[in-house]
Amino acid sequence: MPGAVRVAPEPCVTIPPKLPPGGKTQKSSHPPMKSLETTLPPGAKCVRCKGRATIPMPSHNANFCPDCFVKYFETAVERGLKKFPISSSTPLLVAVSGGKDSLAAWNILHELGYATRGLHIRLGIEGFSEASAEAVAAFARERSLPWVEHSIEAVLGFSIPTIHRKMRRKICSLCGMLKRQLLNRLSIQEGYDTVVVGHNLDDEAGRLLGNIVRNRHQYLDKQTPFLPSTHPRLTAKCKPLYRVEAREIRIYCSLKSIRPVELNCPLSRGATSHRFKEALDFLEENMPGTKRDFLFTFLKRRKPSPSPRPFQDCTLCGEPSYGELCSVCNLLALLRKMDQPHPGDVGS
Ligand code: SF4
Ligand SMILES: [Zn+2]
Ligand SMILES: [Zn+2]
Repeated sequence: MPGAVRVAPEPCVTIPPKLPPGGKTQKSSHPPMKSLETTLPPGAKCVRCKGRATIPMPSHNANFCPDCFVKYFETAVERGLKKFPISSSTPLLVAVSGGKDSLAAWNILHELGYATRGLHIRLGIEGFSEASAEAVAAFARERSLPWVEHSIEAVLGFSIPTIHRKMRRKICSLCGMLKRQLLNRLSIQEGYDTVVVGHNLDDEAGRLLGNIVRNRHQYLDKQTPFLPSTHPRLTAKCKPLYRVEAREIRIYCSLKSIRPVELNCPLSRGATSHRFKEALDFLEENMPGTKRDFLFTFLKRRKPSPSPRPFQDCTLCGEPSYGELCSVCNLLALLRKMDQPHPGDVGS
């Protein structure tokens, strides 16, 4: 059907229903959430061109036809880009996981004329990593875009599932830390000083809520869509999709024939960051526009930290660190220690 929008399922973030103690399902005291993918009646008009609207945009109190939606999306991203100290000639390394956000970010930057190259970090998660790399490869191949892949196991000696098995704890925060650190190190190795990540409005608003609820003020200082470099071995980081919602990115991908990986990461269960996003989704459903108001008001009033915490060099790898050892070396030391035989095990 021309103009109809097919929305791909959300990769990597399927949230299993939270069960009460005892594991039995309980009737919610909240009314069921309405679907975010409401369909419009045939007579609905696009607010820009007055043609037939097929895409409801409740947070903007508007409906769009597909062409006007793409225009809206591009304008929102360009508005964000104008606030960053970069130009269309700044070479950008785009961190691409194979998910909808990073592929959408890469696509729009490429279409806007930026010189881009993709960087994919292979995590070693059976099935999911192969599918993710294939999604990146197919996207890059169709658009003749350059990209490079590095494996976390080749760089650090451990894959994410191995770290998960050894540490016996929720893996997402460790995986996130390693991806951030590796992305920084590899981008410098690749000769870039600005890295693009695909964080969207939902990610940023969810993170903001989490930091406020947990009173983590040290992280609020870093909550900005452009994080400048504060050390010769730290690249600047920009988030061109911070003004667009996850749902809008799914629609953009569908309209631009971008095919993100459709598998969920099998290790994602129980990530608490999803709960904050769910809480905001509930508010958004009942009060459209809440998410963007929450994030944009914070960003508008945010004052940069007057004296950022100083770095020292990690005594093992030389990377910038807040302590004697950086977080990567700390983790590696722990993992290697686990590999050493316990004195009591000798000869047993
Ligand atoms: S382990 Fe968590 S952070 Fe890492 S890829 Fe899977 S879901 Fe994402
Ligand atoms: Zn229109
Ligand atoms: Zn180190």
